[in-house]
Amino acid sequence: MKSEEEQLTEAARRRKRVNLYKRIIVIFIAAMIVLPTILCIILFFKLNSLSKEVKGLKSDLSQYVSMADSKEEQEVVNNNTKPSETDKPTDVSETRNQDSNASQKPEETQTTGNNTASQTEIIQNETEPAAEQAASEQTVSEQEAVQAAVKAGRKVVYLTFDDGPGKNTAALLDVLKKYDVKVTFFVNGYTGFEDELNRIIEEGHTLAMHTYSHRYEVVYGSLDSFINEVVTLQDYLTDVTGIKPVLFRFPGGSSNEQTNIPISTFTEYLDEVGITYFDWNVSSGDGSNNITTESVYNNVMNGVAQNDVSIVLMHDSPDKSATFNAVPKIIESLQEMDALILPITSDTEPVHHNVK
Ligand code: ZN
Repeated sequence: MKSEEEQLTEAARRRKRVNLYKRIIVIFIAAMIVLPTILCIILFFKLNSLSKEVKGLKSDLSQYVSMADSKEEQEVVNNNTKPSETDKPTDVSETRNQDSNASQKPEETQTTGNNTASQTEIIQNETEPAAEQAASEQTVSEQEAVQAAVKAGRKVVYLTFDDGPGKNTAALLDVLKKYDVKVTFFVNGYTGFEDELNRIIEEGHTLAMHTYSHRYEVVYGSLDSFINEVVTLQDYLTDVTGIKPVLFRFPGGSSNEQTNIPISTFTEYLDEVGITYFDWNVSSGDGSNNITTESVYNNVMNGVAQNDVSIVLMHDSPDKSATFNAVPKIIESLQEMDALILPITSDTEPVHHNVK
């Protein structure tokens, strides 16, 4: 009897022990699954924040690199040359351009911008102070470089491309890279070219504003409408690149006759918000229809010959193949004559058309 009881107790103990082992094994297995999962989640967030940081640092770096480049090339000058009548773009081409681009517009873009908005604010906060500091350093050196070049009899040339980004932009960037030339892009708010916008900055060019839609009746309809065109584009470019653009060119130039509102109404607003605008004193003439590659080349080279410092107007819109084809030859000629080719910065002496 007793031994039977003992046997039963022994069996009960064994069961208990087995159950305990089972529990331990289950807990162990559960831990093996849960711990790595938690680790993965932690690492995922860590990775995310690191990529944001890297993106911010990359923007910083490209700013510094472009600054260092222009310092090496040395230095800057004042340019008060007045534009001649022929420097102005034809209204026809600007209008045509506006029409051909009318399909890709602001509404689409808003969505793209919002998706990355919070991320960009973080990047923005990290990069702004550095960018400002670098910009102020460059002010001195760009002015010195320009002055030194002019004194030495060299031409100083700022090549500028309006109305992009578009389907030619990537190829244009390749050409500029090949010749190691930095230029200025005055862009509109066309979506689908985010890579090109980032390349412009990463490769040391200046990304500047040319209004969101480029549609004269919208841009120049009222001051409110103009402000909206500027702010929407500025926000969009900041969202895409992490860098806030502060340079601007009026569609048609500041001497355009597309508005009944005095242009000073708009320039005063730009002043208030710290945006600098640039016209041009050399036109490639590519605003006209059916211009040839040769004419674009001749217009640019003749214009450059007449100025110590030239701000050259060209277009980077999809239908400007004459300009695109002329660019390599223009750069080769400028480099042969040892011209100093620079991107526009906040320190560049602006060229302004007649403002009333
Ligand atoms: Zn334009």
